[in-house]
Amino acid sequence: MKTAIYPGSFDPLTNGHISIIRGGLIAFDHLIVAVLNNPQKTSLFSVEERLQMIRESCDEAGFGDRVSIDSFEGLLVDYAQQRSVNVLLRGLRAVKDYEYELQMASMNRHLDPQIETVFIMANETYFYVASNLVKEVRKLGGDVSELVPEPVARRLATKLGR
Ligand code: ADP
Repeated sequence: MKTAIYPGSFDPLTNGHISIIRGGLIAFDHLIVAVLNNPQKTSLFSVEERLQMIRESCDEAGFGDRVSIDSFEGLLVDYAQQRSVNVLLRGLRAVKDYEYELQMASMNRHLDPQIETVFIMANETYFYVASNLVKEVRKLGGDVSELVPEPVARRLATKLGR
């Protein structure tokens, strides 16, 4: 059984992330969606809230037990070794992503040459969707309900009101 880790901040999960998970399940038997717990980064949602939203959204999408949810701290390659997984899954949107992702994938390869990063292209519908932009627009009162799963839309409303 081939498993990949899909790591990220997921603050919060968007439909773009869901489309990467959907694509990942075509390529892999099992995915571990892993939320990076980075105390240095300010986040809107706690790790626990992010895990809950991912769990509910993946259930809603019908991924069943092919997706498991986890969080990690520290180096991603250490986490991958600990989980005995040697493939990392990431999503690519615009050219801007490419530079950052190339840097991260190269660094991870330097740290552990046995671990490979695999990329899936963003679904055109969600090409412009990023967690930060979703938060920004929602804070200003914009409607993001078509860009995030329902459990996320609900929590954004609780957290940000309106
Ligand atoms: P990070 O802080 O690690 O970049 P994110 O939660 O922002 O974490 O993103 C996790 C991964 O999902 C990244 O590889 C990112 O490029 C990808 N991603 C985010 N939004 C989308 C989207 N709309 N379409 C495709 N991939 C996306």
